[in-house]
Amino acid sequence: MANDNKKLLLLPGDGIGPEVMVEVKRVIDWLDRNRGIIFDVSEGLVGGASIDAHGTPLTDETMAQALAVDAVLLGAVGGPKWDDLPFEQKPERGLLRLRKDMELFANLRPAVVFDALAEASTLKLDVVKGLDIMIVRELTGGVYFGEPRGIETLPDGSRRGVNTQVYDTHEIERIARVAFELARKRSNRVCSAEKANVMESGVLWREEVQKVRNEEYPDVELSHMYADNCAMQLVRNPRQFDVIVTDNLFGDILSDEAAMLTGSLGMLPSASLGGADENGHRLALYEPVHGSAPDIAGKGQANPLAVVLSFAMCLRYSLDMVEEADAIEAAVKAVLDGGLRTADIMQPDKARVSTRVMGEALVRELGKVAD
Ligand code: NAD
Repeated sequence: MANDNKKLLLLPGDGIGPEVMVEVKRVIDWLDRNRGIIFDVSEGLVGGASIDAHGTPLTDETMAQALAVDAVLLGAVGGPKWDDLPFEQKPERGLLRLRKDMELFANLRPAVVFDALAEASTLKLDVVKGLDIMIVRELTGGVYFGEPRGIETLPDGSRRGVNTQVYDTHEIERIARVAFELARKRSNRVCSAEKANVMESGVLWREEVQKVRNEEYPDVELSHMYADNCAMQLVRNPRQFDVIVTDNLFGDILSDEAAMLTGSLGMLPSASLGGADENGHRLALYEPVHGSAPDIAGKGQANPLAVVLSFAMCLRYSLDMVEEADAIEAAVKAVLDGGLRTADIMQPDKARVSTRVMGEALVRELGKVAD
């Protein structure tokens, strides 16, 4: 009989990666026991863990598995143990290969401020309270990959560094579609950010995004903004935004800026999506924004909520389990409202708890909110 179970590949990685992934497994077990949702879960090595076991940050077998499942959930890679390896052999190469071979061109970075943590932001409470925006960053094109690139020595002995910002129509169209689709599931508004005032690639970006909207998504509200203004607006009045779509370079900067509005690295999930096949299935990788945090690895102090929220994104965007995603996000809100904090988000008069206690509390809340 055909097996309809959704297939998940877990790649815990290094440092706190395996510790926080344990708490995702707790949620997966809960869904199995209480909702009868059975995933086919496989687990593999990536980064330093794979280097230690196999001499490479990602084996061909694990890469093939990643291409065959419905979604990949990654913890984090890297750490001082592998810092001296040559660039090509470093743990990060495992992650880069996953992104490249899965052709993950769309990076989704939500910035959500939970009421209980709103005071942790460096911005005023009334500016960030209730913030819920989504930055959609083009991930495989633009100036980070454009040719020509390099450092050359000029005839007079001085040197010149060159990178090229380049985008083709189809690259802009496909990222724009991801943004418009997302907006339809949110508040139906997209703001596209570029530098059309000084860059031809920005003019093309603006024109193509507008064209996709006019031809395919006339119901979605689209505005355009210069990326520098967008950076200012993000700190002045971030709640004006719903979905922001932008290129690789500006997205790199704007998504980190938006992340900091929320005040905590341990709370930030992300998704990277590839193109859809004829059945609408997209390759997808979900991971917390934080790294392997070697300074706290093994101490039971890591905040598991970023990876749990990444799993919620996986349920929402890859597995069409919106109700379960909503329940997990509501449970995260409930544990925070209940006063539990890992060290990174600790506040006066709150209860400081370990990774495991946070995970257990989350599952208890899940039981309540899902009733
Ligand atoms: P980091 O995100 O690992 O840590 C930065 C700071 O935030 C540390 O003080 C850490 O303790 C804290 N922190 C991070 N996540 C936390 C969590 N879930 N709970 C509580 N505290 C948390 O960044 P870094 O220190 O610059 O890098 C450490 C290693 O991670 C390096 O090897 C780096 O290359 C790697 N890295 C990997 C990824 C990835 O796998 N996607 C991303 C960034 C960095």
